[in-house]
Amino acid sequence: MNSTDHQASPSNPTPPPPESPAPLSRYESQKRRDWNTFGQYLKNQRPPVPLSHCNFNHVLEFLRYLDQFGKTKVHLHGCVFFGQPDPPAPCTCPLRQAWGSLDALIGRLRAAYEENGGSPETNPFGKGSIRVYLREVKDCQAKARGIPYKKKKKKRKISHASVNGHDEVIKIPKQAA
Ligand SMILES: [Zn+2]
Repeated sequence: MNSTDHQASPSNPTPPPPESPAPLSRYESQKRRDWNTFGQYLKNQRPPVPLSHCNFNHVLEFLRYLDQFGKTKVHLHGCVFFGQPDPPAPCTCPLRQAWGSLDALIGRLRAAYEENGGSPETNPFGKGSIRVYLREVKDCQAKARGIPYKKKKKKRKISHASVNGHDEVIKIPKQAA
């Protein structure tokens, strides 16, 4: 079909196909899902909470509500495994949402709130109380699970190290807290 290009018309760039629905990135679709979940949560309150009346207390309650769907074991103070990153046996401590998940969730909802017409000044996801709550969760989970939340190491410039794409196993050095 393109072998005869003596009629080449350089002034005729092919237009982009009209129906090219940019696929949502993982982040975008997750954000949309989170936003819908939160909206549903507000609707299910008694009485339902209109978004315009939503404040940081609703957000905090929402975060606590999500804990029941969590998959992260967070040991209670009385548990013999408290502070052990890798317990040798199961225990009956509750599952919670991992701090990192909540932190990322709040980031997405905060953005979604403003994208959906909320003003930055009233953004309940940006309130200091939310940050305080998240920090408490982080500290509490770090202690209970014996896992310090360190900043992820930035990938160093690829040097001599073998780069074979296997998953890095993060070893946590034993250290006295
Ligand atoms: Zn436990």
